[in-house]
Amino acid sequence: MIMVNNIEKDKAMLNSSLEALNRYFGYSSFRPGQEKLIASILRSKDTLGIMPTGGGKSLCYQIPALSLPGVTLVISPLISLMKDQVDSLSQIGIPSTYINSSLAWEELEHRLRLASRGQFRLVYIAPERLQSEKFLGILKDMPVSLLAVDEAHCVSQWGHDFRPSFLSIAPLAGSLPTRPVIAAFTATATEKVKQDIIRLLCLNSPNVYSTGFNRENLYFSVLKGIDKTNFVIDYLNDHKGQSGIIYAATRKEVERLHKTLMRSGFQAGKYHAGLSDTERSRTQEHFSYDDLPVMVATNAFGMGIDKSNIRFVIHMNMPRNIESYYQEAGRAGRDGDPARCILLYSPQDIHIQKFLIEQNPLSPERKAAEYSNLQKMADYCHTSACLRQYILEYFGDKDVPENCGNCENCSDDGKLSDITVEVQKILSCVRRVGENYGVNLVANVLKGSRIKKISLLGFDQLTTYGIMKEYTAGELANMINLLVAEGYLITTEGKYPVLRLGNRAVPVLTGKEKVLRKIRRKKAPAAGTADTALFDKLRGLRKEISEKQNVPPYVIFHDSTLQEMSRLYPVDRASMLAIGGVGENKFARYGSQFIDVIVKHTAGTQTAPLSEKQSATPSSADTASHLVTYQMYREGKSFKDIAASRKLTLQTVQNHIIRCAQAGCEIDWESLIPRSQEELILEAVRRLGPEKLSPVKEALPKEIDYFTIRAVICKHKI
Ligand code: ADP
Ligand code: MG
Ligand code: ZN
Repeated sequence: MIMVNNIEKDKAMLNSSLEALNRYFGYSSFRPGQEKLIASILRSKDTLGIMPTGGGKSLCYQIPALSLPGVTLVISPLISLMKDQVDSLSQIGIPSTYINSSLAWEELEHRLRLASRGQFRLVYIAPERLQSEKFLGILKDMPVSLLAVDEAHCVSQWGHDFRPSFLSIAPLAGSLPTRPVIAAFTATATEKVKQDIIRLLCLNSPNVYSTGFNRENLYFSVLKGIDKTNFVIDYLNDHKGQSGIIYAATRKEVERLHKTLMRSGFQAGKYHAGLSDTERSRTQEHFSYDDLPVMVATNAFGMGIDKSNIRFVIHMNMPRNIESYYQEAGRAGRDGDPARCILLYSPQDIHIQKFLIEQNPLSPERKAAEYSNLQKMADYCHTSACLRQYILEYFGDKDVPENCGNCENCSDDGKLSDITVEVQKILSCVRRVGENYGVNLVANVLKGSRIKKISLLGFDQLTTYGIMKEYTAGELANMINLLVAEGYLITTEGKYPVLRLGNRAVPVLTGKEKVLRKIRRKKAPAAGTADTALFDKLRGLRKEISEKQNVPPYVIFHDSTLQEMSRLYPVDRASMLAIGGVGENKFARYGSQFIDVIVKHTAGTQTAPLSEKQSATPSSADTASHLVTYQMYREGKSFKDIAASRKLTLQTVQNHIIRCAQAGCEIDWESLIPRSQEELILEAVRRLGPEKLSPVKEALPKEIDYFTIRAVICKHKI
């Protein structure tokens, strides 16, 4: 009986969560993991959620916050992000506030007082605040139901972003009148970090859910042996208007590249620790607000970027480990649309990183760990296997497919060439030098260099001396690194790693196994968009609104939402609400403005003949699509049938027909416009004008829909 009750309760809980997802956030279904996390929190269990960046962690505490009795405190290290989060929540009608060092004490007290009285569902708090006794004092009576810890890896010294203030979270939880449920979230947690989070936040036998680390929409590539600056210039030229980050290893390099880009006429900002606080936050703001499409930055530009429409992240240099790389590259494509992560590799990158490790006063143990992590990063750059698989296995994901189809190494269907003989030469040379020397020396022996060290060691007498003369030392080093990445060779750890034969070496040396290698091609498939002209207009409107309200554009709508609008042309309430990211509140605020732009846009193409339109927007998938609809319509199919067989909404099919009519195609209006409605509509349109449809719609009986109104306007060529 009790069990049945629990099941019923769970069901009710999930239904109301789903309803909240719909109504407030405008999404129709949960992403992987969200449901489990929410259910666990609502059952008052401490919970740890490990989900990739962009996976949707925020929702997992925001939705419970709506139904839990007290306040939800959110500890987040990202001060700049707090305001955005609070702005976003207020846009969708969830009252919340934030507390950080930017507020005067009076204001802070005021906000907490309101929170105690139940005026806010969520209160965001910077962890630094928790170190103040005075502050903890006024929290003491707060009825907190849920304590959500975002970026929870910051509590661990083994994470890449340790913040001592996170250690004050557990004492805070203990000092509250009733201990709240604690839910912790992070995107990057190795086993060690995971254990630290549980221990240091004092989670009480928590439910731990991990959805794995995969980010399907990211395309990974590593490019070697190219002119990096020229590559960036070409890339920016080919991707005008897209938002992106270019990471460089040093301030000097940021300054240099930034100057070059400005000279070449690109709009770009720069960001590094050498600039003043005001300058940095101003540039970051411009970037957030889509005023500056491109940011050139050191890794100081990082935490606190929640911009969802970053389409590419280019690394001019290899970072120091896979964690940092995945975190930085992962800032691309949070909205789920296709985005690119491109790493421009050169062998010097390893020297830069080694230098940086040596500069750091680290314990020998930590230093060895750093070198080992660096080696794994270098292996990523040299592997010819799937890049996504490499990253996911690094993070410990299980059952990762061999071939993702969405990275440079997988999508590249270039020919395989047999390099077995070359590999045998390299492997036997490693053996001849006693498995006791590094990449450079082996490369030099193979090349037959006349450097002193080689003759001193007598290596010029080896049978492998000079047997690969036709290659440059750089090419040889690249090949050796590749063999390390693939397990034919291994390198020892430490400052002077030496090469040893790996597991896979023997079968190759004995001729039992061949080694095949892909010949790379440059181009990779590009991501298409819908009606780009409409998308630009919608963006324009969003920008206007965002400036008026002084919030970043993505707080109004994400790019992906505008993309969907420019694919589906929603022109009424139902079709607007069906768009991902349009919930009740946002529809009420912005629905009609966006509908007007869409209607005007479709009307604007009225006079253009079909052929011209096609050539004007060759990339628009929709151009062809509405013609397909028209074809089916001419064959006598009903709109419903067309929608079903083409897997489109009825709305879209109707939009197609209107577009065709506007473009001059013949439509049988008599069968589409009910006679009883035609006069009424005509009267209303003549009275109110055809520019804005919503007033016309409002002036008419409820059963008359937008399609019929537009049909009448088309038929009478108003
Ligand atoms: P994380 O904190 O895990 O990096 P966020 O919480 O910032 O990710 O969410 C990333 C994006 O995904 C946001 O734009 C959010 O609105 C969107 N999102 C979250 N959950 C869903 C969902 N169920 N359906 C569609 N979009 C979602
Ligand atoms: Mg987050
Ligand atoms: Zn792949």
